[in-house]
Amino acid sequence: MTTVSILPAVQAFLARAHGHYIDGRTVVSEGPRIAVVNPASGQQVATVADATADEVDAAAASARRAFVGPWAQTTPAARADVLLRLAELLLTHREELAQIETLQSGKLLQISRAFEIESSATFLRHYAGAATRINGQTISPSLPSVNGELYTAFTLRQPLGVVAGIVPWNFSIEIAVWKFASALATGCTCVIKPSEYTPLTMLRIAELASEAGAPAGALNVINGRGQVGSQLISHDDIAKVSFTGSVPTGIKVGVSAMEAKLTRFTLELGGKNSVGFLKDVDADKAVAGILEAGFLHSGQICAAGERFFVHRSRIDEILEKLTHPLTALRIGDPLDEATQFGPLSNKPHFEKISAFFARARSEGDEIIYGGKTLDRPGFFVEPTVVRARDTHAALLNEETFGPIATFLPYDDEDELLALFNGTPYGLSASVWTNDLSKALRLASQIEAGTVWVNMHTLLDPAVPFGGAKQSGIGREFGDAFIADYTELKSVIVRY
Ligand code: NAD
Repeated sequence: MTTVSILPAVQAFLARAHGHYIDGRTVVSEGPRIAVVNPASGQQVATVADATADEVDAAAASARRAFVGPWAQTTPAARADVLLRLAELLLTHREELAQIETLQSGKLLQISRAFEIESSATFLRHYAGAATRINGQTISPSLPSVNGELYTAFTLRQPLGVVAGIVPWNFSIEIAVWKFASALATGCTCVIKPSEYTPLTMLRIAELASEAGAPAGALNVINGRGQVGSQLISHDDIAKVSFTGSVPTGIKVGVSAMEAKLTRFTLELGGKNSVGFLKDVDADKAVAGILEAGFLHSGQICAAGERFFVHRSRIDEILEKLTHPLTALRIGDPLDEATQFGPLSNKPHFEKISAFFARARSEGDEIIYGGKTLDRPGFFVEPTVVRARDTHAALLNEETFGPIATFLPYDDEDELLALFNGTPYGLSASVWTNDLSKALRLASQIEAGTVWVNMHTLLDPAVPFGGAKQSGIGREFGDAFIADYTELKSVIVRY
């Protein structure tokens, strides 16, 4: 056992009264509170306030004041500096933030450190770099000249205003960074609404953003359940909603944003991501790929693979090989650095995954490995491998967002392509083969926002990410996000 000791800074943070971060300071109201539960033990670690309508108002108004006031006075380079300083502060507070994240979400401490802190710092630097590269175009109009007059035109990319960033529980820091760093880099300001299951980390990060030089109101955090997100979307001061979460909530968010005042919105939603192994795949690489695609962070990654299609001639061999590393996985306390597989992040999600196990059994799928909850405190389930009875199996069609890899054999590549595209979702997919020509042909035909070849799940700030079909609208990262956080204005000049 190498369970880390909780840092005094984390103990002191947890002992504080938690609420919101509005206008550069912590706000704790008297109203109802939400329990924050450690998924590894089922025990409460803190509580957080559920925002009142007045607090939502105050957060949006503060962000609006910052947008027209101090943040509007900054140059792109000054905005980049704030993001760069925040990246450094995240790394300085790496262990403190990682421990808070693990205590609220059950994420393995190594994943908290690597993804929530180190990768978030990398993303912050990417957005900092983008801040000074947000430009329009010059255009030569073809308007007719009657008396020798000439025309020129140019475009401006102007910040939309206050962005409401609504965030799920699976990556409480990283997904929030994608939203508020996009906003701050483009000159917008932001109100983040974390998930009610993971409300703590952003409170600390907003304090660090102030320390990094963000003026009061540039980054606010408002905590609460879905209702708080809903109030935020309809608020008059909100110019854009950047939402990450499930498809059903995303549809509600889009409708509310349209009804509010045609408020701009982008949606990063769920998926039912496919992983296809061609006939020539190396079995060891396939097994490593299944672990990467299906079981990283217990499958609680929007881009994780859930549908695994293997050539019929190889499926038995690959399923047999998969059993050994799954048996060897060390399941346990996410604060123990030796643990390889931790709990699910919250009780409703644990209940949802348990129900999928029961459904697979009752509907006639074959459970090859796992399929049970663990008899210990907290929200632990076994990593699970299922062979679907046919293409209609619920596990091949409904997002589980958990550690369930569902397999189906196929016979030829036309059938494989039909399986890839036979889902209303289109977030991500991967193709595994040594035949690059086949991989590239499939990549161009698969209906998904991201297609990986011989890898899965890993995201890079330079490469745009987002959903095709019902997995979303809009793209984050790369330069693609700029279009979604700015308004394009055309200026035409006669001279
Ligand atoms: P969720 O949709 O239940 O909640 C997401 C956020 O929306 C939470 O902060 C919640 O409080 C808020 N919310 C709930 N109802 C709302 C409403 N009516 N109006 C406004 N806000 C509301 O999702 P979740 O369970 O937190 O997260 C899991 C889902 O997120 C999965 O479907 C997963 O695929 C998806 N996800 C997608 C991506 C991506 O980039 N595409 C990334 C991570 C997670």
